[in-house]
Amino acid sequence: MRREDLQQALGEIRAVYTELANRPLDRACQASTGCCRFQLTGLTPHLTKGEALVAAKGFRATGRKELPESDDGACPLLKRETGRCLIYADRPFGCRTHFCDAAGGPYPRKQVLDLIRRLEEVDRRLGGDGPRKIEAALAAAMEEIH
Ligand code: SF4
Repeated sequence: MRREDLQQALGEIRAVYTELANRPLDRACQASTGCCRFQLTGLTPHLTKGEALVAAKGFRATGRKELPESDDGACPLLKRETGRCLIYADRPFGCRTHFCDAAGGPYPRKQVLDLIRRLEEVDRRLGGDGPRKIEAALAAAMEEIH
């Protein structure tokens, strides 16, 4: 894929995130990171290829090269010392439309379906094969932007 096409695709992912943030949906992430501890929620975010590439680039922008080991059942991008997401501004769609009760529960799918369709369209453009669990999606994206 040409570099410009990739940039355009990743720009579309970020535009989806911005549009979601601008929607009048009554939710408020408190950054409690409860949803980042998959072992507690039993739920793991799934990322399309474009989301994973945006997250991987965000991670690289922190100056880190390798994904941290994650053997405690939490997201590899959760900084354990601070309890913060390492890529909050670039966090995936699922982390924004979360299943967090403290923030008001999951968004009804019909309220974000058009945005999901846009993510799927970018996934097809990038040659993705649909959403994958965050660990696998990130690992593949890190390889790709290596
Ligand atoms: S990407 Fe960030 S917000 Fe999403 S689960 Fe991981 S640490 Fe939490």
